[in-house]
Amino acid sequence: MIPTSQFLQMKGKRIVITGASSGIGKAMAPRFADAQAEVMLLDIDQAGLVALKENLIPHAALYPIDLRSREEIISFWADLSEQELPHVLINNAGIYPAKDLLDIDEAFLREVFAINLESMLWMCQGFIGRRKKRGGVIINVSSVEAVLPFKEDLLIYSVSKAGVLALTRALARDYGRVGYRVNCIVPGAVKTPGTTRLARLAVQKLRLDLFKAGYDFQTRLALNRWGHPDEVARVALFLASDLASYVQGAMIPVDGGFLSS
Ligand code: NAD
Repeated sequence: MIPTSQFLQMKGKRIVITGASSGIGKAMAPRFADAQAEVMLLDIDQAGLVALKENLIPHAALYPIDLRSREEIISFWADLSEQELPHVLINNAGIYPAKDLLDIDEAFLREVFAINLESMLWMCQGFIGRRKKRGGVIINVSSVEAVLPFKEDLLIYSVSKAGVLALTRALARDYGRVGYRVNCIVPGAVKTPGTTRLARLAVQKLRLDLFKAGYDFQTRLALNRWGHPDEVARVALFLASDLASYVQGAMIPVDGGFLSS
């Protein structure tokens, strides 16, 4: 029997984490580094990446990138040498701006889709395109909003994140046979700078409907509390490890019970 601790040992494994400057991605980086992995951190926020490296992970490799740009994603993969190729890809970067259907224009739609869905597709294409038959692990980050649209005005976000679920399952089906494990984490109610900004908006605008939505949201949390980003990072570590060797095409809620309540 393989010792449990050995399963979680990531020595010699390289892990790409997108959106690593803040929130969930920022928690994943030290979690994987602690498991001895070599972390490759991608974000548009270069200062955030540098701060993370200086404060927590001196050996991290930093890649400032705008994931809205397919060209930048293509260059990222093309510039990696064979020795630098990652074993695990975590597509985490995302944005969640709110807009009513009647106010949505093409620029808004393009922006949300470009980051939340298309960047994940292009990153998967680069990863599998470079690793070819060597296989690997892909973890995509969706949202409870993809399964149960709850907060008002997040419809484009919900559609983009539902696309992430479909992307995950389609890739799991198409590439499982050649050694790729592809799964999806479905977070909800995780306290991050992103969700804190949303809550602050409700306070600043004195939007009673947003307060009510916040209250209703809270009452669905079976664990009766918001999650810590590291609680998502730990699930990512499990999925990346061989503890999850037979987990394929799964969507795993990490939401304090929101979807089950
Ligand atoms: P966050 O806003 O705290 O962090 C997101 C990170 O993505 C930031 O570092 C940001 O700079 C980066 N990013 C944004 N646009 C980018 C771009 N164009 N190129 C490169 N990087 C870019 O958000 P978070 O709450 O940590 O969310 C992380 C992921 O989890 C997102 O995909 C989000 O949709 C998903 N999610 C979060 C929650 C939650 O409760 N926090 C719930 C459901 C889903």
